[in-house]
Amino acid sequence: MAICGRIVESVGEGVTDLVPGDHVLPVFTGECKECAHCKSEESNMCELLRINPDRKVMISDGQARFSVDGQPIYHFLGTSTFSEYTVVHSGCVAKINPQAPLDKVCILSCGFCTGFGATVNVAKPKKGSTVAIFGLGAVGLSAFTENLNFDTILLREPPVE
Ligand SMILES: [Zn+2]
Repeated sequence: MAICGRIVESVGEGVTDLVPGDHVLPVFTGECKECAHCKSEESNMCELLRINPDRKVMISDGQARFSVDGQPIYHFLGTSTFSEYTVVHSGCVAKINPQAPLDKVCILSCGFCTGFGATVNVAKPKKGSTVAIFGLGAVGLSAFTENLNFDTILLREPPVE
């Protein structure tokens, strides 16, 4: 699948959940939707598409999709988003609402997934719980959600060393 500025330009054989024109966000921890981790409610560490800085080619055929003067340009973290166009596994994009303005939407890298996912899927604080959140960066701020049941939130910036 090729994407341009978070708009799907084309899809490869076998891709059924995306069509050209879909708006997407690339994610470097993808989901194959088939492995034990993808089927778990407590993990997003897909066996096939988890972050892997050593994987520099497409999984389907072990080849890079780009080259310059005959030399391959290898992929990076499954998304290679430091270019205008890229090719990614369909599990490495998240389809978004087409009404969302593409110049404003962004994913805070692993920050949102980590903060929100760890709180909602792993910690699962019960009503009346006291929750401490250390740091107010992307991870800490993503731990907040109106869907959580905890009553008290303790915030603390990490000490400056
Ligand atoms: Zn998976």
